[in-house]
Amino acid sequence: MSEFNQSAFLDPNSVDKLEVPPECSCPSCQSGLIRATEWEEVDANTINVTRVCPECDWSNQQDLDINACLRIDAERDRALDEIESDADELAYAIFAEEAEIMIKALQADLIAPEDIIRSSHRS
Ligand SMILES: [Zn+2]
Repeated sequence: MSEFNQSAFLDPNSVDKLEVPPECSCPSCQSGLIRATEWEEVDANTINVTRVCPECDWSNQQDLDINACLRIDAERDRALDEIESDADELAYAIFAEEAEIMIKALQADLIAPEDIIRSSHRS
């Protein structure tokens, strides 16, 4: 029934095409999905960061300078924006598909006034 392909939004290969800072790239599997799980301040310019790769389970704990930490933070913000944007596209695609089904049902005279009145009382 559905022609919409959700896997297009979950394609891990699309991540590789992005410019990922070295601190966010996995040295084991080259995934760009590395995330920092723990931060501990060492001094004003150094933070001890624990990073993990969700794809191959690589993990590392090391002291990174503040600029590397800012790049990790910026990459996280960029990734969150991308997820939000993908979610918006997905929501729109689902809405468009539902609207198309509704239009087809109306054109085929499959929806009577009672159907709309009944469904509005359901919620
Ligand atoms: Zn990895």
